[in-house]
Formats: sequence, C-alpha cells, structure tokens
Amino acid sequence: MRLKLLSIFLALQVFSFGLWSAFFAGGDKVVIADDSQQTLEEAPISLISASALEPEAYVNEAEKALDIPAIPTDSDANDLPSLPQLSEGVQPHFAARNMTDSDELLNPIHQNQVVQALEKLPEAHAESVDEIIFDYDPASHRGYGGGGTIILRGVNMELYEFVGVLVHETAHNVDSDFLVPQNTRQASSFTDGGLPLYETDPSLDFYRISWATDGKKNSGAVNTDFVSGYAMSDKHEDFAETYAYYVLHGKDFRVMTASSSALLEKYNFMKEVVFGGIEFQTGDAQVNVQNPPWDVTVLPFEVEYFLG
Ligand SMILES: [Zn+2]
Repeated sequence: MRLKLLSIFLALQVFSFGLWSAFFAGGDKVVIADDSQQTLEEAPISLISASALEPEAYVNEAEKALDIPAIPTDSDANDLPSLPQLSEGVQPHFAARNMTDSDELLNPIHQNQVVQALEKLPEAHAESVDEIIFDYDPASHRGYGGGGTIILRGVNMELYEFVGVLVHETAHNVDSDFLVPQNTRQASSFTDGGLPLYETDPSLDFYRISWATDGKKNSGAVNTDFVSGYAMSDKHEDFAETYAYYVLHGKDFRVMTASSSALLEKYNFMKEVVFGGIEFQTGDAQVNVQNPPWDVTVLPFEVEYFLG
C-alpha cells in the first residue's frame, strides 16, 4: 500500500461525499464511502486464475482496502527516544501512535527488529526511510510506505510477516527515493500520483518488463510473469513485491526465473540495478511456479536466520 495512493483516495472520498451530500443532505454517508472505496481500492485480479488465489489472503486484502486510517501527522504520533544500541548507519526516526502501556514494552523490541532487518539491506535503501511509525491499533492497516515514511502495525503480526511488510514498504521508498531520474528533460508515459515519471528514472526499465502504461499490462503478460497476485495490482506493487521476494525468498525466486523470461528480467534488474550484485540465500527453493502466492508478505520464511 502506498501513501500517495491513500492521499488521492481520501481526497476523492471527501470530494464524492461533498457531491452526494449536496443531493442528500443528512443522507447515509457510509454507503457512499463504501462505493468509492470499492472503485478505487479493489486490486485487479482478472489475470489470476481462481486456483492461484488464496481465498483467505484475498479476504484479508479486501478487508485492508476498506480499512483506511487517518494519515498520521506529528500531532497524532508520539516521538520515541532512540535506543543507544542501534547501529549508527541505520537510524530512522521512530514514532508511535495508539500505544497502550503493554505496547510500550513491545516498542523497543520492534525498533530493534526493524533496525536488524534494515541492516540486511544496502545502506542506501535503509537511508531512503526517514521515519517509521508504529501503529498499535489492532484495526490499522498492516503497512504503508512512500515519501520517506513507513507505517507498520505493531500488533497481531507474526515476526516473519512484520519483517515482510517492512521490506515491502521499504521497497516503495527505494522505488521513489533511491531510484531517481538523472534529469527531468523528457517525461515518460508513466506517472506517479498524477505527476510524470521521467525517462531517466531507472525504475522505468523495471516497469516496462510487464507494464505498457500505468494501469495496463503488456499484451503478452501472463500470471507467471509476476511473483504474486498482489504484484499484478500496478507497477509499484509489482516493484515492491518483487523486491520483497528477492530479499526474503531468494532461492525460490531463482527457481522461478526458469519458468518466465519476464521473471528472469525482474530478478536481474533487482540484482544489477537495485542491489549492486548482492543476492540472498533466503527461502527453501520449494515453489510451485504455476501457482504464485497472493501476497509475498504473508509467505513464511526463516526470519531468525534472516535477522541473525
Ligand atoms: Zn505496497
């Protein structure tokens, strides 16, 4: 999930409510809100065969889409003191909201887990994350990322999922803040939040493996060109899911590249352009290439080994 998308969504929701309330003063706004959410937030699944979808994961995804918290501001997240034992190289600003007394005990553990995970990534990737906000509301979304910020739910997530969501959201920051254009002379056919993406943006070479334009896949694209169902939502989720799979399920990804030239291209893009040649010995190489998962972040992996 991306912050920019969320902002547009909230803006449209306010706009649509304004329109409707002009006709139905005092009407039922809940129904109206539900309509606009379905239009904007439903991830496209048309190319995924029914058997490829994990029903439970998809229900979770749909629930998440209907669960839109307020965009955090400085006033609703509390600054947290930095922990002295954290490494100097990776030191995002931490904040939290909706924290109970028992969450306060968990919070230093979460900070350490985040730093341990970020230290496994290239330093420039970790540096693309300026602020991490833990949300201890059990009903909050699992994660948001973009524009230097990550929001992570601090409760009801297994460690592997917590780290999976962190890596996925970090990828959105890498996409927007690490892979930046050398110049802005020529706009491409791709946009981000209504703004043009420029031809010198390194991310374009990745997008073009499967995407013709923002919301339209290349004519020859098939399910097995994507690491997950969620990766088929749009070019940014394709990037973030592919990044997370590369880091957390490296052996599995290398097996999958044999079945799709697009996946091989995506793997090589991550290896050469994003990770400067670094590869990960994560995963167990046990994959069903015909049946990709819905969401990389809910795939268990040996998280203790990864963080260790
Ligand atoms: Zn995402």
